[in-house]
Amino acid sequence: MSGQNELTRFGTYHIDRYYGSLAGMLKHFDKTARKDAFTGHDRAAFEEWRKQERSCLSGLLGLDRLSRPNLIHSEITERVRLSDGILREKVLLETEEDVTMPLFLLIPPETPKGVFIALPGHLGGGKYSVAGCYEIPAVREQIELFHYDYGRRLARMGYVTVCPDCRGFGERRDTPFTGDEPERFLNGSCKNLANMALPLGLTVIGLCVFDGMVLIDYLEQRGGWPLENLGCIGFSGGGMQTMYLAALDERIKQAVISGYFYGFRDSLLILNDNCPCNYVPGLWEHLDMGDILSLFAPKPVFIQSCENDHLNGPRGLSNVFEQLAVLRKSYALFDAEDRICHDIRPGEHCFHEEILKNL
Ligand SMILES: [Zn+2]
Repeated sequence: MSGQNELTRFGTYHIDRYYGSLAGMLKHFDKTARKDAFTGHDRAAFEEWRKQERSCLSGLLGLDRLSRPNLIHSEITERVRLSDGILREKVLLETEEDVTMPLFLLIPPETPKGVFIALPGHLGGGKYSVAGCYEIPAVREQIELFHYDYGRRLARMGYVTVCPDCRGFGERRDTPFTGDEPERFLNGSCKNLANMALPLGLTVIGLCVFDGMVLIDYLEQRGGWPLENLGCIGFSGGGMQTMYLAALDERIKQAVISGYFYGFRDSLLILNDNCPCNYVPGLWEHLDMGDILSLFAPKPVFIQSCENDHLNGPRGLSNVFEQLAVLRKSYALFDAEDRICHDIRPGEHCFHEEILKNL
């Protein structure tokens, strides 16, 4: 047995072999994952499963701990006519007592085609990138990088588009991420929010879904726009929120999910450096992403994947196709496989606006 007595040039000991936790965690996953996957063969069994799993998922997300206000308090604080003719309203919406969600409502000049909720992901400053605030140089750069301005694009296409700050981003940042420096402005405090929420039995995803539900309540109460085809769209973390909101709120009728549809094992366990806002205690035992999005069947869903998106995990698109197969099986029960549009694009993690042509 030789002793370890020579320090490296960093003043540390060199370690040849690491005894990390991943292998053990993968074993746990393989033993316990997806125990609630749908195994039936007809629509009646599927409806029963849907009811049960919506309730299970709501519980896991902490939604049972939150109650929607009967009377929604909101205030329009600003109205601006943008250069492309779109009217931008800023609304402060109280989703819980002492919880305010600022949002931009983009209203096209013509009679609207419908309404879309456009949710933000990481590193875009919340609503500022989605609503296309090109005048902010740091936001403009992120729009160029990720094509983050899908809310503004939808408004130009004739949809009333609601672009909220999700919790932790834009005007909803907590310390230490408040501040005007571009890095702080773009960044979010969703990690800090996860730290606050999880021990309270809440989750970031659950809080975002909850806010989305109250936002739809607000749109219903405000009236004036057609909600029969209410859509929800998001890229990356916005895609995450879209998937869960679509799965749990019947009022979403079409969903566009870009850069956020793959299996948990590869994308959130092997890639365990993902932001904590992605993680829900106990979830993987019950469902995977294909199962969760199946709760939306058979409504139209547009999924976009980029070939080299590192978030697909080490096996790349295979990890996407496996979840799509689960989703297709659910849609097949309704003879509605054609309502799943899978749009594959080259390159890294990015939104591609071509998918909007399919709406
Ligand atoms: Zn996050």
